[in-house]
Amino acid sequence: MTVEQDATQQSVITDENIENFEKLLGVGVDYTPEHILKCFEASYWVKKENNELDQIDPYVEAKNQLLQLMVSSQMKAQRYFEITSPFNNTCIACRGTGEIYKFKRKTVKVNCHICANKKKIKVQCRSCKGTGRFKKRWIGGGGIDVTCRTCQGSGEVTVKCIECRGKGKKRKIVPDHEIKSTTPCKHCDQLGFTKNIPMVVRKKKKEYRPVNPVLSANLADKIKNQIVEDLPHIE
Ligand SMILES: [Zn+2]
Ligand SMILES: [Zn+2]
Ligand SMILES: [Zn+2]
Repeated sequence: MTVEQDATQQSVITDENIENFEKLLGVGVDYTPEHILKCFEASYWVKKENNELDQIDPYVEAKNQLLQLMVSSQMKAQRYFEITSPFNNTCIACRGTGEIYKFKRKTVKVNCHICANKKKIKVQCRSCKGTGRFKKRWIGGGGIDVTCRTCQGSGEVTVKCIECRGKGKKRKIVPDHEIKSTTPCKHCDQLGFTKNIPMVVRKKKKEYRPVNPVLSANLADKIKNQIVEDLPHIE
């Protein structure tokens, strides 16, 4: 199985991962990421109980690796990720991932939101101020209504779209699926769950708290639908 296949949870468990997890957590091939994460949580408590927390690092690393794969494959498929944490007392700051992710960015071409790729837009005719008519006054009184020649009476003229300068498309920088860097969550020590409940929100000094971005499914869909062409990656 490879990461490329699809976005289902199972697909992110590669043979290499399985080997890691089997070694560390004793899980089987038919285990889902949820099982593995549950095993990780249980292992943590066992290690803690036995005063063996100095051995926990490889477990954390394997757990992080699995989550990164899940997150990345979800980002690839749907442009947002949503990890359903199986932990008790899931950490609020990282939503159970244990890490804060920064994604690579890429430039894509999207249809201009003003002209929707029509390249031209209709604006009010300046000659007649949108009325389509002119009142011609005669000297000495009286007058007639004439049709505006600029807009042929429609009140509108078609011009090059100002927003995209007539290109119909615009470049947009969006998060890519590849993870650029990760920051360990300080609130849970990378575990994804906390021992102390509930996490107290202290209102003292303004503290920089990195949190995982929450892009709604709706917004992600919107971006996805807008994209007309993927451009080469930029970092
Ligand atoms: Zn956390
Ligand atoms: Zn006009
Ligand atoms: Zn435009």
